[in-house]
Amino acid sequence: MTYPPGSSGFVRVRGAREHNLKDLSVDLPRDALVVFTGVSGSGKSSLAFGTLYAEAQRRYLESVSPYARRLFHQLGAPDVDAIEGLPPAVALQQQRGTPTTRSSVGSVTTLSNLVRMLYSRAGEYPEGQDIIYAEGFSPNTPEGACPNCHGQGQVYEVTEASMVPDPSLTIRERAVAAWPQAWGGQNQRDILVTLGIDVDTPWRDLPQETRDWILFTDEQPVVPVYPGLTPKETHDAAKRKLEPGYMGTFSSARRHVLHTFATTESAAMKRRVQAYMIAAECPVCCGRRLRPEALAVRFMGYDIAEFSRLPLQRVAALLRPFAEGREPDHAEQVQRHPERVIAQERMARDLAARLDVLLSLGLGYLALERSTPTLSPGELQRLRLATQLHSNLFGVVYVLDEPSAGLHPADTQALLTALDGLKAAGNSLFVVEHDLDVVRRADWIVDVGPGAGEQGGEILYSGPPGGLRDVPASQTARYLFREEESGPQEARSPSGWLELSGVTRHNLRELKVRFPLGVRTCVTGVSGSGKSTLVTQVLAWTLAAHLGQPPAPEHDEEAEEVLPAGAAHLAGDVALLSRLVQVDQKPIGRTPRSNLATYTGLFDHVRRLFAATPLARQRKYSASRFSFNVRGGRCEHCQGEGWMMVELLFLPSVYAPCPVCHGSRFNAETLEVAYQDRNVAEVLGMTVDVAWAFFRKEAPVFRALDTLREVGLGYLRLGQPATELSGGEAQRVKLAAELQRAGRGRSVYILDEPTTGLHPADVKRLTQQLDRLVDAGHTVIAVEHDLQVVGSSDWVIDVGPGAGDEGGRVVAEGTPREVAQARGSRTAPFLARTLG
Ligand code: ADP
Ligand code: ADP
Ligand code: ZN
Ligand code: ZN
Repeated sequence: MTYPPGSSGFVRVRGAREHNLKDLSVDLPRDALVVFTGVSGSGKSSLAFGTLYAEAQRRYLESVSPYARRLFHQLGAPDVDAIEGLPPAVALQQQRGTPTTRSSVGSVTTLSNLVRMLYSRAGEYPEGQDIIYAEGFSPNTPEGACPNCHGQGQVYEVTEASMVPDPSLTIRERAVAAWPQAWGGQNQRDILVTLGIDVDTPWRDLPQETRDWILFTDEQPVVPVYPGLTPKETHDAAKRKLEPGYMGTFSSARRHVLHTFATTESAAMKRRVQAYMIAAECPVCCGRRLRPEALAVRFMGYDIAEFSRLPLQRVAALLRPFAEGREPDHAEQVQRHPERVIAQERMARDLAARLDVLLSLGLGYLALERSTPTLSPGELQRLRLATQLHSNLFGVVYVLDEPSAGLHPADTQALLTALDGLKAAGNSLFVVEHDLDVVRRADWIVDVGPGAGEQGGEILYSGPPGGLRDVPASQTARYLFREEESGPQEARSPSGWLELSGVTRHNLRELKVRFPLGVRTCVTGVSGSGKSTLVTQVLAWTLAAHLGQPPAPEHDEEAEEVLPAGAAHLAGDVALLSRLVQVDQKPIGRTPRSNLATYTGLFDHVRRLFAATPLARQRKYSASRFSFNVRGGRCEHCQGEGWMMVELLFLPSVYAPCPVCHGSRFNAETLEVAYQDRNVAEVLGMTVDVAWAFFRKEAPVFRALDTLREVGLGYLRLGQPATELSGGEAQRVKLAAELQRAGRGRSVYILDEPTTGLHPADVKRLTQQLDRLVDAGHTVIAVEHDLQVVGSSDWVIDVGPGAGDEGGRVVAEGTPREVAQARGSRTAPFLARTLG
């Protein structure tokens, strides 16, 4: 591809200064695959997303809504002088933070709509049943939902055992645990006293009839309550018709629990009462969420709920004969229901074509019903990509963020083919990517650097890949053209073994597998083969239970799932271990209140430094004055958020800076206090690199910053909200926090693709950190695709061979060299190539 620069085939950026970009200018070809490379923090995203995509978005919003225009005035457009030739843009960014909506594979891809149509028009109905419209197959519509469970598939019930966990207690001793705490529970007790029920006998000794009434009655008697009186005094008072303290309304425990669950708006309350409820499959729909009439309609013998649980590759295989008009009884059906056959063929063809795209992106192991919060960010991005491939848009630029994340090298080819498809349809692709196989396929490379943060933000190279070879300052060139090999490292020998057997979960069946201790292990395999299930779930949960730790990492408040008993058996040298450390990619906080400085604990030290300054002491400011989370020092207008949320009709809400503190989060008096000429807001605005130099003499702060630099995060700002961090960054922040604590006992570190978002140069530093842990006697087990990391590990466990039902076995295990020779392993050939 050769464009004369300045021709209309280019997007021209002039004077870009967003974040760390150094007033840069660059020309990018359209209708091409443009890949942005550079070390983490060099400014790739600031250019691709922060400048190009943001500007395209701004122009689009301006064209549709005057209100949005006013807002963007406040928000500020990207800091750039001019961009010419920019087409409309679609961003396929990896999800940051937690997805809020409960959607499924079927709804994200809109395949569920087609499947409902298929069942409506081409399903087999029982004799005499009327046709059901497509909506009638959705559990989210009144027409479709099972009337018993309202489409939930589950019903919640309460039992005596669930609400009275300890029947040896009396009512006064809170035997009825499900009742509200504090005043509410006391009120119910006083009502029972008035009703003449013995609240000082152990629960189990009360008559069953009384117990049932207290727990389950729908009656709500209103009775006089005499708070503070003994049962006997109460009895006397009632008899003499004394004026009661108040009239109290009784509510059975069941009524209280179900009513609170259905109506409370507090998540904490909901969780509290839910603890007394038992979820059971709805007996009417058997968990299938639909009305009986809808479930009676079948296609190929499956009802629509069963169909939605099949892996997509199976669905595609079922539909293909219909799409091609060669289903078993085709001729006969054409005779009997010609219109149905035509409709069926058209829908099957449409579905099969869309499914093929998903299969080619390595997602055939997913089912339509799978909920999106259980997908990895990479899987979700590829789902969205597949959906775009069918949207028939052209003339747009797709901006993608590391689409290879979570992809086995064997699947990268399919990804490239999908990208080629979008390009062939007349679109442009701007892709931020580290995977060298993808970088090599670029039509055009934009290398940003040379370093991160302040040391980056310049264009080192912009042109066809070959030319990058001659750019000495480029770290990318070093890896792209002279593959720095992983170094013929001597494999360390294990100090013991962990043995898991009978592992049964998702696609793992009675699996037996062993993990070496005291070394670095990589678990490999294609996407969907079962790596995460094995490592981040079964191994982590089983080990946590053995070590008496809570099942989920401490930051993960929402982990609901636990491993059912008997899903695995752990044996081996568990006694050698003292601690499990799980370092995953889940967000480290859900609100912008949590940030790098607060999460790592270094902000506590910083606040103490501020409180110790002369001005702070004179004004009697304590360390908490310098917190934006409590009253006192923070800006009360925004309550220390620095931002205000602005709701937009029809568009996602946006944040705008607080008009009072202008985003500094603190009030003016607090900001008057300076430590070495910097106020606390300015410190939060520093990058780790800058702060590292600034706090050189403050050992605890310095150590924390030093570790953050070591894991490649020197470019992050201290106040960077947790919600802005990518999954890979969040994982490295957690790792840094753990590295600071390391040293205690012998720990097992479990990591989930720690290289996500890292340039090969940063990968090397990360690997050194992990090796340091191993050298200190700890064990590191990582799910990983990066072949440099796999090749330099001590032990490899390859799971597969395929995804879903075609995976779930240990295909090969051993040193990297041994696994590279293994037959039947999809990882082996790639590993062999890397090891040379
Ligand atoms: P890359 O995509 O190459 O990893 P980024 O573009 O994300 O790099 O970051 C480049 C620089 O800009 C870093 O120093 C980073 O800390 C800074 N930066 C990123 N996002 C923001 C933001 N929202 N506000 C201020 N600085 C930011
Ligand atoms: P990998 O980590 O190798 O990509 P996973 O362990 O995520 O693979 O998935 C293995 C299999 O288990 C796949 O078939 C996947 O669809 C299934 N699976 C994973 N998580 C869930 C879940 N939360 N619910 C249902 N199936 C799941
Ligand atoms: Zn039901
Ligand atoms: Zn404010």
